[in-house]
Amino acid sequence: MRPVSYSRATDVADAIAIVSADPDSAFLAGGTTEVDLMRLNVVRPGLLVDINPLPLDQIEELPDGGLRIGALARMSDVAEAPGVVERFPVIAQALVLGASPQLRDMASMGGNMLQRVRCNYFRDARSACNKREPGSGCAALEGVNRGHAILGTSKHCIATHPSDVAVALVALDAVVHIQGSHGERVIPLDDFFLLPRDTPHIEHPLEHGELIVAIEIPAQPVARRSLYLKVRDRESYEFALASAAVALRVDDGVIGDVRLALGGVGTKPWRARRAEELLVGEPAERASFARVAREELAPAVPRAMNEFKVELAQRTIVRALETAAATGGQR
Ligand SMILES: Cc1cc2nc3c(=O)[nH]c(=O)nc-3n(C[C@H](O)[C@H](O)[C@H](O)COP(=O)(O)OP(=O)(O)OC[C@H]3O[C@@H](n4cnc5c(N)ncnc54)[C@H](O)[C@@H]3O)c2cc1C
Ligand code: SF4
Repeated sequence: MRPVSYSRATDVADAIAIVSADPDSAFLAGGTTEVDLMRLNVVRPGLLVDINPLPLDQIEELPDGGLRIGALARMSDVAEAPGVVERFPVIAQALVLGASPQLRDMASMGGNMLQRVRCNYFRDARSACNKREPGSGCAALEGVNRGHAILGTSKHCIATHPSDVAVALVALDAVVHIQGSHGERVIPLDDFFLLPRDTPHIEHPLEHGELIVAIEIPAQPVARRSLYLKVRDRESYEFALASAAVALRVDDGVIGDVRLALGGVGTKPWRARRAEELLVGEPAERASFARVAREELAPAVPRAMNEFKVELAQRTIVRALETAAATGGQR
């Protein structure tokens, strides 16, 4: 058994100072990832700094039509906020389709961005895993890789990014506000999630002690007509095999504006920029959707057990776009 110390931060500066000063420490928000992984002996912080007393749980509609979500806002509160449901339905839907009601009541938005991969070899401290132990190898490459990624993979890691709401946020050009001992910085969420390349253990650009304080989504009229489609082995309490976050504007049958991102298939929430480029100006019909879905998945690199995801991801894109075009995102 390993002893763990616990400290409750009193304000943002205090939280940053305590964690920055101790390389063996970690922030604790809802604990639904951190405590889980401590029990599995995958992470071993000597000090947990509880950030729940910090005033970071606001969900604010900004005067310009944007939205600011505090890092400690709970998934369930964000999913139910009227400004989110009405103006950014894709975010509300992605949240409700994730985890379970009990988990969503505990889990924070900041913690969601930093949740770790669900790869079984990562979560088994005895398996080879470059993400957990750099240089040890990747047991998933030739192992059980049915749930693993087909986009953005490297020969060092093929784990899928697990978050649903991050897919919706990346589709809508969200940015993340970070505070550290050297001040504040703002990073587009799409740049925040790093590809595994040669360094799968580096998942984001945060320095030790830097705190996510908020996530901001710019004003996006197109987001009113948006939805999240999640395909998984069972209809609740399960991670995505493939998912799509879509926002769409159709003018007289022609696509005027579109945002598209994929989950369950990428090593990071996958902004489908190629598909977006090809869709604008095309008729809003199945043939266009199928064509761009094929293009987006062309670079896919499947492994022995997850080849089905190439077709599944394409079908998910087509169905999400068809539904958004037909219903305006309301399901
Ligand atoms: C059984 C199960 C099923 C799940 N299913 C889904 C699902 O379908 N879809 C989905 O998207 N998610 C799913 N999740 C993941 C869940 O959403 C995350 O565990 C949760 O969002 C993490 O938030 P938390 O507040 O509990 O984070 P914590 O566990 O407290 O922290 C997670 C990590 O983030 C760090 N951290 C937390 N807050 C901050 C901050 N503000 N700044 C800097 N670092 C911080 C912590 O140090 C830790 O490293 C599931 C989880 C479980 C256990
Ligand atoms: S896929 Fe990534 S997380 Fe899984 S075993 Fe390989 S290196 Fe580890």
